Amino acid sequence: MKCGKPLGESDGEYCMDCGKTGHAYDRGRALFLYDDRLRDSIAAFKYRGRREYKRFYGEEMSLAFGVQAARWRPEVLIPVPLHPSRRRKRGYNQAELLARELGRSWHIPVETGLLVRVEKTLPQKGLGGRERRRNMKTAFKIRPDHVKFKTILLIDDIYTTGSTMDAAARALKEKGAGKVYFLCIGIGSGR
Ligand SMILES: [Zn+2]
Repeated sequence: MKCGKPLGESDGEYCMDCGKTGHAYDRGRALFLYDDRLRDSIAAFKYRGRREYKRFYGEEMSLAFGVQAARWRPEVLIPVPLHPSRRRKRGYNQAELLARELGRSWHIPVETGLLVRVEKTLPQKGLGGRERRRNMKTAFKIRPDHVKFKTILLIDDIYTTGSTMDAAARALKEKGAGKVYFLCIGIGSGR
């Protein structure tokens, strides 16, 4: 009901993470389960220069979540930013490529200057839930210091524990955002 992780029939409405910690964002959905095949594909999209994957993922997400996005009525799409030095090194932000595809298809503006990654966090991979949260705590800033949008849709590639999405949502809400939703390509299964 919250993060969109698929659950077994007897698991109730919330996954362990959502039941235990609560979230700063309001709700989100992901396109695919993050399995080995998706992991390979996302790694190529992210690290091996396969920017053209944005078309497939963008199209699939647009089809799968068009109705949902229309219900949420976001004023802007905001891709989860990379730290500027990481973005420079990689040459692009895969989340931004995706957001631009969706923005074009849904006619929603994409905003990339507002939410800024400030601290160079450790890669979240290999960290536990609490470490991930601590690692992300001061990761985002709002520039300039005010958010005029009431409803925002964050776009990212992978949702794991939600600590990145929470940190971004918290930063946006502290500066005036009302509702913050997210869409991403892949999500782990809820246990
Ligand atoms: Zn959940």
